[in-house]
This record gives sequence, C-alpha cells and structure tokens, in this order.
Amino acid sequence: MNVYVMVCLFIIGGLVGSFYHVLGTRLANNLSIVSPRSHCLNCQKKLKWYDLIPIISFISLRGKCRYCGKYYGIDTFLVELVMALAFPFFYWYYGLSYNYFVILIIFSLLVLIFLTDLKYMIILDSPLIIGSLLIMVLKLLYYDYQEMLIGILSGIFLFLFMLFLGFLGTKIFKRESLGGGDIKLSFVIGLTLNIPLGLTAIILSTFLALPLATYSLLKDQEHEVPYGPFLISGLFIVFLFQDKFLILLNFLLP
Ligand SMILES: [Zn+2]
Repeated sequence: MNVYVMVCLFIIGGLVGSFYHVLGTRLANNLSIVSPRSHCLNCQKKLKWYDLIPIISFISLRGKCRYCGKYYGIDTFLVELVMALAFPFFYWYYGLSYNYFVILIIFSLLVLIFLTDLKYMIILDSPLIIGSLLIMVLKLLYYDYQEMLIGILSGIFLFLFMLFLGFLGTKIFKRESLGGGDIKLSFVIGLTLNIPLGLTAIILSTFLALPLATYSLLKDQEHEVPYGPFLISGLFIVFLFQDKFLILLNFLLP
C-alpha cells in the first residue's frame, strides 16, 4: 500500500468533506453556493484560507470563529473527518475500481443526507441528480449500455413502488408518510443495486428505522422520523456486503 497515495486521498477527502458541509448547509437554507465567500454567520467577517483548512482549523480553533468566538458545532469537523477517512479506506478496500467510485458516491450521499435530513428535514435534489448521473456514466464505462439501462429501469421501478407505498400510507394514516426526497432516493437505490438487492436495501432500511420510529411513536405522536438516513444506510450496507446479500437472496428465493 502506497503511503503517499493514501495521504493524498486523505487530504482530497478532507477538502471534499469541507465542500460538502458548505454545500449542504447553504443549499438547505436556500443560499447560493458561489457567493458570498465563506464568512462567519455571526460576525460576518470573511474567513481567511487558514481558517478553512479541513480538520486542522477546527482543532486549532476548537470549533469557534477566530474573530468573535462563536461556537459552530462539531458537524463541520465530523463531515471533514469521515470524508478524509473514507477516501483512503475504500481505496484500500476496493482498489481503483467501479466499486470504489460507486461507494464514494453512496458515502457522499450518506454524509449529505445525514447532514441535511437530520438538521433541516430535507433531502437535496442536486446531490441525488449528480450522483445518479455519475453512476450511469460509471456503468457505461466499466460495463455497457445494457447494464446502464437495467439500472435505470430498476431505479424507475423502485421509484414507482415507493411512490405507490407513499400514496397508500397517506390514505391509511391520513398524513404524508414518505417524503419526496425518500422516493427520489429510491431511484438511486434501484439504479445502483438493480431490483432484488434494491428491494433488500429498502427492507433493511425499514428494520434500521424501526427502533427510532417505535420510540418516537411511543413518546409523542406528532414527531416525524426522517427516513432518508435509514434508506441511504440500507443502500450503503447492501452495496458494501452485496456478495453476502446475494447468497442470502439465493438461499431465500431459490
Ligand atoms: Zn465570527
């Protein structure tokens, strides 16, 4: 394993994470991602380049603005750190391959969805669209147009399937049970995994969501549980262990 490559990937990952944090926070608040330049939301002071070094700036300033001392929370640091670790880790796990690029796309969506769905209860469209397009291109480059077409059709199938479930849920529970973002995310799941594994990912995500959903139902009826983080976690887990899930599927559905 080449240490130099790993260090480079760590740095690139940190920069990407820093960008994702800006992207997620600004788009979720309907702000432009190009202007204004990074500034403190409290004292409005423009941040210098040395205030924006991923991970290091957070540690040296302990998450506070250098100028006014306002504490910004740990989420910037966490997003930068997990992305910085993800780039070299998955490279070590997969090598430079189709799976490496796809897992980075899935992991990026995971980080962004956790950031925006937990904090602002929304799933942004643009990362889903860009992620889908990149996965289509990767299928075309590493496989062929047929593989890409199967992915797209599987995505449409899961999209319609979840749309139908959402419609059914609204009829039965008399309130919106699946958000638009969750339904769009189902397209990405189908596109990436095709139908059998895609459905497995969705089923897995409901099991993952069950403890929190039960807890919030028992505690207060009105509180909504964001489903997006569980859906994307389902996709992430099934993609990572797809060989094992395929064996399980062959065993259950001979
Ligand atoms: Zn400030």
